[in-house]
Amino acid sequence: MMKMTDAAVRQVVRNKIATGSLPRDRIGAVFATYGANEACHACSASVTSEQVLYTLSRADAAGFVFHVECFGIWRDERNKMASAEPVNKNETVGSRVYGSGGASYS
Ligand SMILES: [Zn+2]
Repeated sequence: MMKMTDAAVRQVVRNKIATGSLPRDRIGAVFATYGANEACHACSASVTSEQVLYTLSRADAAGFVFHVECFGIWRDERNKMASAEPVNKNETVGSRVYGSGGASYS
């Protein structure tokens, strides 16, 4: 399996956020499980049963699945884009641990 570099994934993620293929807000709940060969929404590679799969579930869209690394890249890029825009006062900024078991992500 070809593995994209972080920089390549970052570029893809940035484009997907720009075109709306990936969300640019932090709405949704995140679940961490093991993969079952789902295609990652960032790098398009499959998430194997030996890798942690992050599922972002949203009421308004089908779920998004990521490798844990790709999720981190998406979160990072999304935060960068968000900080370039007017600040949403309802948004709490800060680091947060995304544990398993569906911690609230909003
Ligand atoms: Zn990925």
